[in-house]
Amino acid sequence: MNIIVVASEAVPFAKTGGLADVAGALPRELAKLGHTATLILPCYRRVSNAGVPIRPTGVALRIPVGGRAVEGFINEADLPGSNVKVYLIDQPHYFDRPDLYQEKGRDYPDNCERFVFFDRAVLETIRLLKLRPDVLHCNDWQTGLIPVYLDELYRRREGFSAIGTLYTIHNLAYQGRFWHLDMPLTGLDWRLFNWRHLEFHNQLNFMKAGLVFADMISTVSPTYAQEIQTSALGCGLDRLLHDRRDELRGIVNGIDLDEWSPSNEPMIAKRYDATTVREGKAACKAHLQRIASLPEDPDIPLFAQIGRLDPQKGWDLLAEVADDLLTRPVQLAVLGEGLPQYHDFLRHLATQHPGKVRAFLEFSKPLAHQIEAGADIFLMPSRYEPCGLNQLYSLVHGTIPLVHSTGGLADTVVDTNSETLADGSATGFVFHEYTAAALRHTIDRVLGHWPDRALWNRLMQNGMRSDWSWAHSALSYVELYGAVQQRAIAWRSHRTAVGRVL
Ligand code: ADP
Repeated sequence: MNIIVVASEAVPFAKTGGLADVAGALPRELAKLGHTATLILPCYRRVSNAGVPIRPTGVALRIPVGGRAVEGFINEADLPGSNVKVYLIDQPHYFDRPDLYQEKGRDYPDNCERFVFFDRAVLETIRLLKLRPDVLHCNDWQTGLIPVYLDELYRRREGFSAIGTLYTIHNLAYQGRFWHLDMPLTGLDWRLFNWRHLEFHNQLNFMKAGLVFADMISTVSPTYAQEIQTSALGCGLDRLLHDRRDELRGIVNGIDLDEWSPSNEPMIAKRYDATTVREGKAACKAHLQRIASLPEDPDIPLFAQIGRLDPQKGWDLLAEVADDLLTRPVQLAVLGEGLPQYHDFLRHLATQHPGKVRAFLEFSKPLAHQIEAGADIFLMPSRYEPCGLNQLYSLVHGTIPLVHSTGGLADTVVDTNSETLADGSATGFVFHEYTAAALRHTIDRVLGHWPDRALWNRLMQNGMRSDWSWAHSALSYVELYGAVQQRAIAWRSHRTAVGRVL
């Protein structure tokens, strides 16, 4: 098959979150399976600092945006370690900026215009370079208009009639909602600005556009695929998702084991695998305690958290239980940046509990690896979690995850109890009710099990021996692409017969 993956970020070019890990890894795995995979991304300023050579193709773009023709260029690169071609949509006014979507916590005011340009530019790139994909795989709100442009403006052009579209939700909470007067920027007919198509509470909604127009929809775990059909986690789009449930799938992300395996990582103090985890983790823990300026003590349980400092990640619960936790003999290392209130909270926590807490309020790849390798327990009490990557990184590092049972966390971490210990499936600690009391109780369970080194060792082994490589997930995507193609053929013939019925 010929697959084009379109995303607004991908490792190693530009990353703000888990989407980049997926968009960087999936095309490489598809290529390994013998498919033709191509990646299309915006050419942000930081792309040129990614250490990957970028070449101009010499192909120019002229994209209509709100009645103007905006010029751009197509650059190309190779996805390292693969034969995947990457096309980078270059438009300096839109993308030569310090960050991807926002600066100092404020979204760029022209985000709608920037991604209108990008989405139309993707289809022009396919036309001009004659890429002829079987499936166009779009991801998150930034690519939501692509299936619309395909149906409305490109279907009748040569090479476009049979393209199937898959739209993957990585986080339903970020929808790309803009005021209605941005609609003319899209160049799409106002007739589409209605509640069955692009309109959502009188706003233009990119995510909704993708969900309505794509042949099939997926999200990044089976549990999240169910949860987003409920009013609690559907972010207002639950009815639409429920209506399309036959075309909705959940595939858990893989992880890039070349990058995230303690037997490979160059930046950790000592490399280790499942057979050498005790010595390896001891060395990495001592190193982490040193760089975090925490007392070097092998026996004290070292808790960790890495990620966006955002209410989604369970910081309200963590704030409630933190003082309680830190009166015990424990240490806590946090790496993250996000809402100023959580920065203040963590600074305050560190002064209240000297020698027990270290908060690195920054984005640092080496620290993320060193914390995963050196910590004993990874706290991930997310309110909701479409897939989550850090619990998977924790599992492969023998760092025991403590998670709320939601989304991908529910699908990847197995709670420790007599049954799961007996059958060897226990890998972590899971709580069900999203309350501080339930989290506190689970921390008590963790600390109750910590002194039993034999049991702890079994938990580490179970996690490290589980297989989270991309190979599985990529096979599931290939199967889904096949279903997308079939659905696309069936829909197209139906639509030709009766017109668009949505
Ligand atoms: P989300 O995509 O919701 O932010 P995920 O767990 O799916 O959460 O993925 C987050 C990714 O970003 C992981 O690869 C994680 O290691 C990385 N990450 C998040 N915050 C930081 C940080 N401050 N420093 C380094 N890496 C970070």
